[in-house]
Amino acid sequence: MKGKVLIIAGSDSGGGAGIQADIKAVTCLGGFAMTAITALTAQNTLGVHGVHPVPEAFIRQQIQVVMEDLGANAIKIGMLATRSIIATVAQALADFAPDVPVVLDTVMVAKGGHPLLEPEAVEALKAELLPRATVITPNLPEAGVLIGQTLTTEQDMEAALPALEALAAQAVLLKGGHLEGDTLLDMLVTADSLHRFTDTRLETRHTHGTGCTLASAIACGLAQGLPLVEAVVRARAYVRRAIELAPGYGNGHGPLNHAH
Ligand code: PLP
Repeated sequence: MKGKVLIIAGSDSGGGAGIQADIKAVTCLGGFAMTAITALTAQNTLGVHGVHPVPEAFIRQQIQVVMEDLGANAIKIGMLATRSIIATVAQALADFAPDVPVVLDTVMVAKGGHPLLEPEAVEALKAELLPRATVITPNLPEAGVLIGQTLTTEQDMEAALPALEALAAQAVLLKGGHLEGDTLLDMLVTADSLHRFTDTRLETRHTHGTGCTLASAIACGLAQGLPLVEAVVRARAYVRRAIELAPGYGNGHGPLNHAH
């Protein structure tokens, strides 16, 4: 079966982001989702109330047993929480999945402001995992942390692309959802092409898990054999529809609607 995606990420008990969003996205796009959970969060639409990292050896074991038996056509990486989890995942990829395409969502802070990656882990992320990624999907604040600049405008985005490319992922999808104004702009840069994706902004507070969902949808596309650009186009359309149809659950930033 083509379309097997191993998701290495954190659990969101509220069902909107993390592993839960990842499984829904991959399933709804016709793929098969497998998981290696890096951390549990006690979370709802109002925020992250607690984080419980999974022991490193057990993260490695989840990756090992999945890869040795089922195998994966693509891997999605989300929340990594700590420097030692980053090192564990990097080593496990080298040992058990050296040739599998990797979509790396550079998760750092939840929308409610709770850190999902310890700040001192950023250098490890850059050194040990970014070079292994087929594509990384930073939003503007994350890209700013990666390259040590504040990014707020379209010009900032364009100027940041070479520095992001130099971090040595094969491609970068820089997400401009944090730009001010009505227009949304994402830029996808690969070794030999630059694509700009624009949309009108949807006025809603129900955007919890959009980053997780987008990255998993891209990973699913790659697993199903789509070229990267087509995987990104399909994933963006999927996320947009999932926001438009969001059910409005919870009192904060609510989840998306995947089954559309
Ligand atoms: N919880 C987990 C486990 C996540 O992986 C993420 C994002 O990657 C979030 C929460 C944050 O989601 P959002 O910023 O969309 O609220």
